[in-house]
Amino acid sequence: MAPASPLQQLSQQPTTISVRLADAKSDCEVERLVCGIASRVSKARRILFVTGAGISCNAGIPDFRSENGLYNLVKKEYPNAVVKGKDLFDSILFSDPISTSVFCTFMVRLRSCILGARSTSVHKFIKLLHDKKKLLRCYTQNIDGLESRENLQIGVEGKQSTVVQLHGNIHMLKCTLCCKEFEWSEEDCDLLEEGFIPECQNCTEKAEERTSLGKRCPRVGVLRPNIVLYGEEHPDGENIGRCIESDLKARPDMLIIAGTSLKVIGIKKLVRSAAKAVHERGGVVVYVNRTLPAARSWKGQIDYHIDSDCDEWVEDLHRRQPGLFLKQTELPVTPSKKVVVKKENLKRKHEEEGAAEAEPLNDITNLTTTMSTPEKRKKIASTVRSVFGVKEKVRPAGKLEVLKDRAEGMESVRAISVHAT
Ligand SMILES: [Zn+2]
Repeated sequence: MAPASPLQQLSQQPTTISVRLADAKSDCEVERLVCGIASRVSKARRILFVTGAGISCNAGIPDFRSENGLYNLVKKEYPNAVVKGKDLFDSILFSDPISTSVFCTFMVRLRSCILGARSTSVHKFIKLLHDKKKLLRCYTQNIDGLESRENLQIGVEGKQSTVVQLHGNIHMLKCTLCCKEFEWSEEDCDLLEEGFIPECQNCTEKAEERTSLGKRCPRVGVLRPNIVLYGEEHPDGENIGRCIESDLKARPDMLIIAGTSLKVIGIKKLVRSAAKAVHERGGVVVYVNRTLPAARSWKGQIDYHIDSDCDEWVEDLHRRQPGLFLKQTELPVTPSKKVVVKKENLKRKHEEEGAAEAEPLNDITNLTTTMSTPEKRKKIASTVRSVFGVKEKVRPAGKLEVLKDRAEGMESVRAISVHAT
């Protein structure tokens, strides 16, 4: 009996199998597993992605918790501050004025680093999966919004959002009282950098209006980066819950977790629910991170742990499964099930009808570029039939496309394919 392929052998595991990507070159068993995982990723159709700070390490955002990291640089400006690095994203920061100032200055510096950062191979991979309609959604712990550099829609509005930010977005400021959101103005930026919290414009205007009417002056809120600190509830928690519910119902067949240590309670819950849904479909859960998750309770939930830099794993996947990384327009044309007109037939038809050599092709090509309504589609279908003698009907909802070889120009139209959309 022939041995099972890596793909056949790879399935849900009773315990997490951990491999070092770097060992694949020298260890056949690791190579077999990494190859099998790559194959599963390539074949998956409904992928859930969960990401953390590890995917933004290569983006140019400096590590802020290390000795010479951003936080310690900021802290030098506040010698009396007693805030520890680990409390940087904790709501405890607002318990005293000095730590509030540390937080404000730190956020300005961090945002400035993010503005100069670039998206990484993982961000591009998530975009690719989205474009290929293989991505259900990406849930990220990151507040940097680098996904938007790849034109991925960030938000919590059901189907319209591709990326859900579980810990908020540093690029917006939000009033602590009226909850109105604002873009960062230069003035806000200057104030925050000096350690002061700007007052909310909306609240201020309302207060001024009331005062002018001789009424009691209400409280005025302050603006804070719109991020969710530890110990705080996510203001969009309900919408995020709805996104998760809808994704779990959509029968995900793969969960990829990348660059997070899975220590935060919210992400743990999300991963457990997603892993359960994936396993019910016979799918696998892949975890890419430099270290294994701390808790042993991941047994039976995470099938494979790949010890690797997240970008290096994506690049390795690209080498193993190049077809997965081809865009729709780069895929080889498969003539089956499609209306195909060969160049010879085209020439014969032209000779029979004494048609001018290039004109009909010009017409067709022009039509395809503006083919946005059923009427236009019918028109081009009719033109195609008259020029090429094609008898097949173009479906009214179909998309018709003329493929041409750019190097040879208009006369080298080699196929016409009708795609159902
Ligand atoms: Zn306000």
